Amino acid sequence: MLPADDTTCGWINSLPARREPKRLKGDVTADWAIVGAGFTGLAAARRLTELSPDARVVVLDAQRAGESASGRNSGFIVDVSTSRAGTREGEEAIYLAKHRLNLAAISALERLVQEHGIDCQWRQIGKYHCAADEANLGEVEAIAGFCRRLGLEYQELDRAALTQRLGTDYYLKGVFTPRAVMVQPGALVRGLFESLPDSVTVLEESPVTGIEYGPTIRLHSADGVVSTRNLIFAANGFLPSLGVQRRRLMPMTLTASLTRSLTQAERQAIGEPSDWGVLAAHGMGATVRYTEDHRILMRNTAEYWPRLSMTAEDLKKRRVIHLDAIRARFPALEKLAIEYTWSGVVCVSSNLMPSFGRLSDNVYVSGGYNGSGVGGGTIRGSLIVDYAFDHDSELLEDVVTCPRPGWIPPRPFLDLGALWRLRRASVGLGRDL
Ligand SMILES: Cc1cc2nc3c(=O)[nH]c(=O)nc-3n(C[C@H](O)[C@H](O)[C@H](O)COP(=O)(O)OP(=O)(O)OC[C@H]3O[C@@H](n4cnc5c(N)ncnc54)[C@H](O)[C@@H]3O)c2cc1C
Repeated sequence: MLPADDTTCGWINSLPARREPKRLKGDVTADWAIVGAGFTGLAAARRLTELSPDARVVVLDAQRAGESASGRNSGFIVDVSTSRAGTREGEEAIYLAKHRLNLAAISALERLVQEHGIDCQWRQIGKYHCAADEANLGEVEAIAGFCRRLGLEYQELDRAALTQRLGTDYYLKGVFTPRAVMVQPGALVRGLFESLPDSVTVLEESPVTGIEYGPTIRLHSADGVVSTRNLIFAANGFLPSLGVQRRRLMPMTLTASLTRSLTQAERQAIGEPSDWGVLAAHGMGATVRYTEDHRILMRNTAEYWPRLSMTAEDLKKRRVIHLDAIRARFPALEKLAIEYTWSGVVCVSSNLMPSFGRLSDNVYVSGGYNGSGVGGGTIRGSLIVDYAFDHDSELLEDVVTCPRPGWIPPRPFLDLGALWRLRRASVGLGRDL
């Protein structure tokens, strides 16, 4: 299964058109090859140039660099993790390790944004975890509870306070975590790609279709072969398709929509709030943003979709669900139209833990971020190189403190299990989230 994303992502479409890519042709030799040019692969490539300045580094991507999930997500760089893994009594060390990694990712990205002048609507405005119905109020309390217990920064907000800040009275209760950052993800990842040191060669539209392992690894694509001494897999949702961590990771397809900018009158009608980002307090519920340029982003569909990519017809159905959910939150915006709807592939594991480490002597992997890969991919992409070079640090300790992903059954048991879990989490088509 190769990546084949749609061309309708709002973030990517609002960026300047790019020049023709460099593609793999003929035989290329590398010291390090990386499969995947998203946040993970780009971070790994950058770190390789720091730790091994003379190494020949080649990054291969099936599509344009950064235009897979990395350029088409909701743009939250999380501080307090959305996943509860590690919040139970006795597991706190795991959660705190994840939290330090999140904060380190924010700092690392902020430094790069400043150093390279990346124009990506970087906004450190925090994020909200909200419940819109009585059934999920306990989830908000659980988040506040573990923030309190673990000493994390947070603030509890009631409906009145949320209405004033968000311009909608849809949510009953929420927790605000102040250190999260919102970005235009397409612009961020493009800036990271364009600012890579010249010593990194990125070959785009060059899908890896076959791999020969050995002391020299050969990566085959339609028009050429990369021979490399070391390999890093950074293909996230496509890791299982590449034969990597098949029993531990699985892809899921998410869909999102972005409206046009609100008019001045529409902004007034909702009380002229500043930009914000809301995550549902319950696992895998809706993600909503009011952006700096006054658009509303809605991502409330997440599906186990074995074909991975979506057709225009598939997207049309999801757009209806997104629009309904926007109208439910903002009844005053009855004329507000959606401008873009798109899908993207993420990678999940049964215990919400990512995959990180050595697969064999010269093969490494980082991926499976369970929907939090902007920061997660950036920090772990860099640390997988430290790991390969035995370059110890407290952050690397934090990564290895986290358990590995749990086991996932083969199909068709996987299909049944995934459907059951998604239904329990109230995710998928036809549900108003
Ligand atoms: C709609 C949506 C909303 C999301 N919201 C958020 C959010 O708000 N915050 C957050 O942190 N995360 C979010 N995520 C998840 C986040 O986007 C991912 O976790 C992150 O992009 C992972 O980065 P990556 O570099 O590991 O993988 P990717 O960005 O998926 O990059 C992997 C690359 O590998 C390439 N590839 C795959 N197979 C091959 C092959 N055979 N040969 C060559 N190249 C190959 C792909 O083309 C791709 O470019 C969201 C994702 C989606 C889809």
